[in-house]
Amino acid sequence: MTSACTICDRIKLIQAHQNPYFVRELTTGYVVLADSQYFEGYTLFLAKYHVTELHYLPRREELLYLEEMSIVQEACAQAFHADKMNVELLGNGDAHVHWHLFPRHNNDTPKPGPVWWTPLETMYGDDVSRDAPRLSRLKYALNTAIDVSLNARQAELQALQGLTGLVNHEN
Ligand SMILES: [Zn+2]
Repeated sequence: MTSACTICDRIKLIQAHQNPYFVRELTTGYVVLADSQYFEGYTLFLAKYHVTELHYLPRREELLYLEEMSIVQEACAQAFHADKMNVELLGNGDAHVHWHLFPRHNNDTPKPGPVWWTPLETMYGDDVSRDAPRLSRLKYALNTAIDVSLNARQAELQALQGLTGLVNHEN
């Protein structure tokens, strides 16, 4: 089951219906809640392709992946009442392209700044999988907000899918 890539492993768990953090499949990626919910609503959007850089995606896939990321981060903002969204593509640890989407709230860190100023043992001490009702509530809130964002951007998405030739497997 394990491969050289942690994210490919997580995608295999999603496909086997064994990833408790899984929220939703979109055309170009998988939406999951992060293990840590210290920053409540922290969401990841994992690319379906294993590539290490955004520009290594097939160009048409890349366009739709960016649009879908924007939809997910908008939904994240709505679902978790963000004062500010933080959207990051890092990948120094796990190089498979994935977005970190953080709904931030005023004063959620001692000084205004990136979440990474929070000690990792604090941030990752909050594994939401140990609290099934909370995990369900967060997944439901995000899924519902994604529906709203997808509907609001249906025309754009259809235009992009026509442009890219990618079929939306969502419906
Ligand atoms: Zn991978």
